[in-house]
Amino acid sequence: MAHAMSTGSGVVLDLIRAGIATRPALIDELGWSRITLARRLDELLHAGIIVVAGQSDSRGGRPAESFALNKDAGLLLSVDIGGSHTRVAITDLVSTILIEDQAEIGLWEGPDTVFTWANQVFDYLLRGLGKSRADVRGIGVGVPGPVDAATGRLAAPQIDAQWNDVLVKDHFPQDYSAIFAVDRDVNVMAVAESRLGWPEHRDLTVLKVGLGIGCALVLDGRVYRGSRGGAGDFSHSFRHGTELCSCGQRGCLEAVASGYAIRRELNALGYRIRTTGDIVALSRMGSPDAVRLLSAAGAEIGHALVDVAGLLNPALIVIGGQLAEAGDPYLSSLREALLARVRAFSGTGLTVEPSRLGNKAGVLGASLIAQDALFDADRISHLTRS
Ligand SMILES: [Zn+2]
Repeated sequence: MAHAMSTGSGVVLDLIRAGIATRPALIDELGWSRITLARRLDELLHAGIIVVAGQSDSRGGRPAESFALNKDAGLLLSVDIGGSHTRVAITDLVSTILIEDQAEIGLWEGPDTVFTWANQVFDYLLRGLGKSRADVRGIGVGVPGPVDAATGRLAAPQIDAQWNDVLVKDHFPQDYSAIFAVDRDVNVMAVAESRLGWPEHRDLTVLKVGLGIGCALVLDGRVYRGSRGGAGDFSHSFRHGTELCSCGQRGCLEAVASGYAIRRELNALGYRIRTTGDIVALSRMGSPDAVRLLSAAGAEIGHALVDVAGLLNPALIVIGGQLAEAGDPYLSSLREALLARVRAFSGTGLTVEPSRLGNKAGVLGASLIAQDALFDADRISHLTRS
């Protein structure tokens, strides 16, 4: 049993958040005495962290009281920063979106511009909800590069030097007394895809296709971050050619098959493309150039994913990010190229699907990591110790 060593209230909260929410079910899971459990539940009720949610009679016989997270005891802010697009949302404490906004501001505008916009919007949205900064308990942010898990600081070098060593907390007003949680954008997206989008799978690979190509690995139900938070970065594997990549090398996957690459090719043909949204719009209008370039890019990514499928044997590859909204033939080319080449063993049962959460995956994931940080078992046990 994972929690056998701890007798803190945080352990009880973890189980309640996972849906194990009645006294009999909690005792079954924890092996504690009724008295110990009652004390821990009282601590959580007293602190306003949980509430009595109702009666559950799933075990038959006398109905058992059930508990739930007190979702209205505060708010979470979430930010999802992309290459050309940033989304923000305010959620309750169980990550239900209450209000949201977005703008065509992204990575290349730099952290000052992105966070100045986000903070102005949050103040406006909080007022709209009749709330203030004092109601905010957690802030989750998906950033466009690897993050040092120990410090919460963006690692260096980032793809744009403006983001080197950025500490997100420094870009928010001092009067927030909230817990911060920060991770790479595609890892954040993968948290939402695995927990909300595809809870039936424990091993999945999540791609974020926008201007760049991001990849996150969910192994046995958890996002695998690697030694420095950079795991899953396969977009700079060498494919072919001499096209210069944003990383300084030539012929990377990102140089030949990303939104940047498609934009470069389209603009060379005389189009005026700025964002991934422009590419999707052109493709939806039936532009043969856009459709051809998207198909070729999809196939290139599919070939690159053969290695990922062979190394990790995921059950599912989720394609999210704004370029995924182009749909077929981009996605079908990707799927066909992968399945045509993957070895029969890894290919058996492997599916490639568009995101179930669509453009909300990032803000939902950012809210979830803030929720996890806020309700971290050790933190809660410490806070509520009586
Ligand atoms: Zn590269």
